[in-house]
Amino acid sequence: MEVKPESYMKFLTDGNLGKLTKWLRTFGYDSEVYPGSIDREFLRAGAKQGRIVLTRRRDMAFRNFTGRMYVVSSDTVPDQLREVIKEFSLKVNPKSFFTICLACNHPLVVIEKSAVRDLVPIYVFKTQMTFSVCQRCHNIFWSGTHKERMLHYLKLHNLIYHL
Ligand SMILES: [Zn+2]
Repeated sequence: MEVKPESYMKFLTDGNLGKLTKWLRTFGYDSEVYPGSIDREFLRAGAKQGRIVLTRRRDMAFRNFTGRMYVVSSDTVPDQLREVIKEFSLKVNPKSFFTICLACNHPLVVIEKSAVRDLVPIYVFKTQMTFSVCQRCHNIFWSGTHKERMLHYLKLHNLIYHL
């Protein structure tokens, strides 16, 4: 079953925030990277899609814009995460991890273990119980070691001290 964050927010990020975007997807937030240059069209796309615009470009803050925008000021990924989690009170709940494809932002669907037998490494098949598949790019995800590594990273940077 899919677990979605309680207050669901969607994001549109600029290309400089690729790693942050993947983390937002990890947390279960629909997050697209804007493919074009960072200009008025970027803001317009965010507003049109009902997405909060995240950018590193300080000058964007002075644009006339009726949508929701946030200028990320930190240079490192852990600090960027800290900023955005705080600004939007994001829910960092491991139960929501691996609900969105990290590669293409499409929702993941849980798949029967027997269906991935020939699609994942033998060791993974033997040791993991739960698998999800992206119906757009067909990537298969399993949470075990990935999730542990992610939790370790988040704890290391004091981003989930409450867990
Ligand atoms: Zn995908």
